[in-house]
Amino acid sequence: MNTINSDLKEVIESVKAYIELDRASGIDEYFVAQKKSDSRSPGLNLGYGCTLESLKQEVMGCKRCSLHKTRHNIVLGAGNPKAELMFIGEAPGEDEDLQGLPFVGRAGQLLTKIIEAMGFKRSDVYIANILKCRPPNNRPPLPNEIEECEDILKKQIDIIKPKIICTLGKFASQTLLRTETTISALRGHFKEYNGIKLMPTFHPAYLLRNPNDKKLVWSDMKKIMKELKIVAK
Ligand code: URA
Repeated sequence: MNTINSDLKEVIESVKAYIELDRASGIDEYFVAQKKSDSRSPGLNLGYGCTLESLKQEVMGCKRCSLHKTRHNIVLGAGNPKAELMFIGEAPGEDEDLQGLPFVGRAGQLLTKIIEAMGFKRSDVYIANILKCRPPNNRPPLPNEIEECEDILKKQIDIIKPKIICTLGKFASQTLLRTETTISALRGHFKEYNGIKLMPTFHPAYLLRNPNDKKLVWSDMKKIMKELKIVAK
């Protein structure tokens, strides 16, 4: 008998001996401990060296949540990969879903005006959303959709390394800051997200319905400009 076979025989004999001992003391059932499974889908390969381009390839065809069934396009983000300023909204709407670009509808046109009033072009900053796929009928994102999508946003922030993040609206602000404080209370005050200054402000879609609050958003933008040492033209 070779060594492996005799080792195996020894293991079998000792297991048998254990079982017999258990039987003698009345144990005749065994349960296998189940490894607690992570309910999230398999992780994306977003390791070291990941770029916005490789992230795009990695995310293409994503089916981590049910939004893939109704989306037309994944809206990853757009802008300068080395932007100092990053805007983060909620989720793509109808126009964004059809074009595959963030903030291109009516709210997006207002955001573009805000960006330009700050002295930037859209291509100077980076624009993304918490969710990369449109929720049907623009319903609010669900917790599992946020959880599945958050790794992608974290990776985008990691790659871009903006000096300042500006969250647009209640949803993006509360999600990144892990708070339930209202947007009215959050806006206008710098917070911190993983060591990055974060300014919550109202969502441009809210401004379309409440134009009187544009001045509040402008005062938030001026705080960002001061921090980035930008002088408005
Ligand atoms: N609203 C958002 O939050 N994001 C978009 O991209 C468009 C509208």
